[in-house]
Formats: sequence, structure tokens, C-alpha cells
Amino acid sequence: MSTIDGLMSMRVGTIDGDDIMSPSHGSFNWGDGILTSKCERSNHCEDAHPQPGCTCGIYSVLDNGLQELKNYVYSPNHVVFVGWAFSTVNIYEWGLRSGQWVAVGVVNWHGFYDKPIGPDNKREPWWDSAYSALDILRKRHVDNPKLYTLESVSKAIQDQKHMYEERDMAINQLFGIAQL
Ligand SMILES: [Zn+2]
Repeated sequence: MSTIDGLMSMRVGTIDGDDIMSPSHGSFNWGDGILTSKCERSNHCEDAHPQPGCTCGIYSVLDNGLQELKNYVYSPNHVVFVGWAFSTVNIYEWGLRSGQWVAVGVVNWHGFYDKPIGPDNKREPWWDSAYSALDILRKRHVDNPKLYTLESVSKAIQDQKHMYEERDMAINQLFGIAQL
């Protein structure tokens, strides 16, 4: 059992009826909502534990990975989800490659040009997918799935980064004292 805390991040899913599929691996169904990585190299990485030298794992982005994310947002069926990366988590500048990932909500963002859901905007085709996505999460017993603004998700991810940096600093200081 891993004891690493979850990290908040975003990833794209394709809404297909009552299913959510991965946009890059079209046959990968999100199933019960908890995604678990499987390595395609035999005996290389355990399920849910992508190794540093490998490319397997569930990819998701942090607040500064929107350019990466938008490459997967090109159809009205694509929805940006916010969720938690856990098990083994490899951290990169733009995002994460984790052993597991679970969606908890939908981000009200569909690329830099499409309009977000709101009373002042004209309805866009992707809005229906976002509403379907929330229904699907409810059916999968996600506790109160919501539509989050990109700003609120980005802020939460930044706060989380600061918290980890502070924790690392505290650990380093303790380690430094132990060396005296
Ligand atoms: Zn692997």
C-alpha cells in the first residue's frame, strides 16, 4: 500500500453515452472511475506503479499544463476533469504520470476559444458533454460532483504546490539539523 497523498490535477475524457473513454487510447474505458495504469512492457512496472524510466501511467496536468491539455480538447465530446493522482506519482514541470487517478468533478473550460458554461454565453455543443459527465460521476457515487471554474482549480493546484514545497523545506531543515 502506498502512503503518498493524492495530488490534484486535470485530464481529458471523451464522453460516449454513459461511458468515459480516454482520448489518446480510444479503447481505454474509465470504468468505475478509478483509473489504474498497466505497463505495456512485460515485467517492467507493477500495475499502478509506473517507474521513472518508463512511459506508462495515467497522465494528468497541473495548472501550468493547459497547453498540453488543449491538445486533447478538440471535439464537443471532450471534457476536462479535475481529480486526484495517487499510488506512485511521477511529477514533471507540466503535470503528473501516476499509477492511479480518480475524477471528482468537471472543469468549466474547453480550450482557449470555446465559451465556458454561464448565463451570459451562448450555448455551445460541449456543454451537453459536461452535464453528461457530471451525471456519470453521480452514477459512480462521486460525492457531490461539481462544475469548477478553471480559476478555482488552478488556485487549488497552486496552493497544493506551495504546501508541498513548504513541507519539503521543513523536511530539509530537519534533515540539516540531524546532520550536525
Ligand atoms: Zn512501465
